[in-house]
Amino acid sequence: MVSVPDAIRTVMLETSRVVMEDPERRGQCHRSVSCTDTSNLLNKTLAEDIIMPPPGYPPYRASIMDGYTIRVKEYKSLDTEKETKNVERWTHHVVDKVYAGDTVPAQTSSMSDASATQLPTALYVTTGAAIPDSFDCVVPIEVCEVSNDKSSIAIDSSAIIKPQQWIRPVGCDIPQNSIVLPKGHVLDPVALGLLRQAGRKDVKVVEPLTVGVLSTGNELLSFEDHWSPGDFQNGIIPDVNRPILLSLLSTYGNCSPKDIGVARDDDTMGMMKAIQTHLEHCEVIITTGGISMGETDIVEDVLVNKLGGTLHFGRMNMKPGKPTTFVTIPSKWGTRLVFAMPGNPVSATVCTQLLVKPCIDALFNGRWTYPSGDSMGNREEALNKMVQNSLLHPEIDVVLQSDIKLDFERPEYHRVIVEQRNNIYYAISTGVQRSSRLMSMRDADGLLVLPRATNEKPAASAGESYTLLLLNSPGSTNPRRKLKESKHMTQSRKRDRTFKVGVVRIIDETTSQRKAEDAELCERIKLSLSGAKSGSVSIACCRSFPPDATDLHEFILLDSESDIHIVVTCTTFERNVRLAKELRRKLSNVADSMALQARKGIASSNPAAAIFEIIVGFESSHGGSLTILLPEAGAEDGLANVRGLLKHALEIARGDASHTKKDLGATDTASSS
Ligand code: AMP
Ligand code: MG
Repeated sequence: MVSVPDAIRTVMLETSRVVMEDPERRGQCHRSVSCTDTSNLLNKTLAEDIIMPPPGYPPYRASIMDGYTIRVKEYKSLDTEKETKNVERWTHHVVDKVYAGDTVPAQTSSMSDASATQLPTALYVTTGAAIPDSFDCVVPIEVCEVSNDKSSIAIDSSAIIKPQQWIRPVGCDIPQNSIVLPKGHVLDPVALGLLRQAGRKDVKVVEPLTVGVLSTGNELLSFEDHWSPGDFQNGIIPDVNRPILLSLLSTYGNCSPKDIGVARDDDTMGMMKAIQTHLEHCEVIITTGGISMGETDIVEDVLVNKLGGTLHFGRMNMKPGKPTTFVTIPSKWGTRLVFAMPGNPVSATVCTQLLVKPCIDALFNGRWTYPSGDSMGNREEALNKMVQNSLLHPEIDVVLQSDIKLDFERPEYHRVIVEQRNNIYYAISTGVQRSSRLMSMRDADGLLVLPRATNEKPAASAGESYTLLLLNSPGSTNPRRKLKESKHMTQSRKRDRTFKVGVVRIIDETTSQRKAEDAELCERIKLSLSGAKSGSVSIACCRSFPPDATDLHEFILLDSESDIHIVVTCTTFERNVRLAKELRRKLSNVADSMALQARKGIASSNPAAAIFEIIVGFESSHGGSLTILLPEAGAEDGLANVRGLLKHALEIARGDASHTKKDLGATDTASSS
């Protein structure tokens, strides 16, 4: 059973792999939409930068005021003439009018060849009118006196007369060649206006993802069926998961939900076909129901055994939603991500919010973040970065308004209403939290992350503060939290004191007995690591690789569920040596003293096995993990001999403040001397 943060991490890792899988395909996930089709553009994400073409915006010199446009030079010379010759009070002769929308008038004569009045010329202009090139100032009507026949004006001495006064130069709002809207921008109403100012007829937007939703269960009455309230007896209930999930997905704005219908849970082939036919178009599929322990719970069998999927986790340590299962299915159209949610509507909805929403966001953003064919450098580093930067739910700290009983089995994601008073957010429970009780989600603003109860602390008390994950409501502007900055993602790790071990078997061939052998090996490792402290070690996963596996190190690096990887070689000496050399090269730190310690343990019970290469290595990225490579024969004794060092070693790998890499060096030197 994985913790919710570990489940989210695993989902984001697999999602990131899909994003990186096929850069070519990402380049094709765009379509062109006409800018006149505003309803179709709203909330779409731009797949291209919008660059302002010449001459910029505004495209002509425009008046900012209703008034008269004049030439500053002529006005200044008029001043001196007025003083010397004491001419009449009118300052300008109005020769033309330019309204907003009129074409720019041809050159207008200057004072030298103007009419008999011998006054300089002015043009009447309205706000937004195009100013001819030879004019350089607009005088607002408020500071002009106008003659009765409107043919002359006198400019008040309070007017500001200087070049470009009350004129918007060409390109002053948006300079030519500047980026008006960057790729990835979500088109809001203002952006639609900017597209017009940039003169765009059509734009490239990112194609939404297709997400399939399938309900399973013979008891379900589909909402398309004809029914009357009396039908809901004798074991028939309405299918509520599809309407909830299909409409929830449509609020995300980056996916088109695809209704796959209802599958019976007594027809494995029927369910398989329902899913299989949608693998081509659906990048993500959500199923609900049929994933627990009952005889009719066939979904995992369909996904893993019939469709060849890889199971990443099959239980989550949370309430509601424990049976939540995550599988990836390879297909010729790319790897498909499948979330098999429990059937109870609250579980299905909460777990979709928690796991599927960040997955869809990452897949969608991957469609425009990396241009097609882009080289991504070191694959592992790029994956890590992508996972760490995944956007999760907005988080806030809330104070409990009243006591809430904690669950003794699992941490609870308690649905609450949030109220703000005196700048403090208060959480108020929505009542009974049974996973079938959809009413517990009515009005809920978020999920209060409550720890498991202990005898010392059976309840969360009024006044205490807890993390709350805000459920996304349409139009919400709450900032989403990056995985690496999420409190929710880091809190539980610190609390959990048991070692999670990933067992990796290196075997030459797969045999039909593999499963039984895997289970036996896991049990042996668990016993040797936990010693007298049973329960201090849990097996997070068990995988097999061939000796020449190129993806072994990648698996070790990216498997976020395990603190320690025990790699057990069940192969020839020669292959063991080659594998050890490769691992030694790839691990970021190697601690030979601990390896020597393990070798001593092995030698004590099986001297021949001690000639095999033994490696203890640390990875400091991804939160830090420890890897131990040793031969199968004598593995227990080898591990038992380093058992006491593991906690310390893991702290070093995790970069705990009280230890540094110097610890590692010091230990190593001590042993080799
Ligand atoms: P399951 O996960 O299939 O064992 O289902 C758990 C509970 O959820 C059962 O009581 C089901 O009847 C109910 N359930 C399963 N699917 C749905 C659905 N689509 N709508 C409403 N209730 C469901
Ligand atoms: Mg069922």
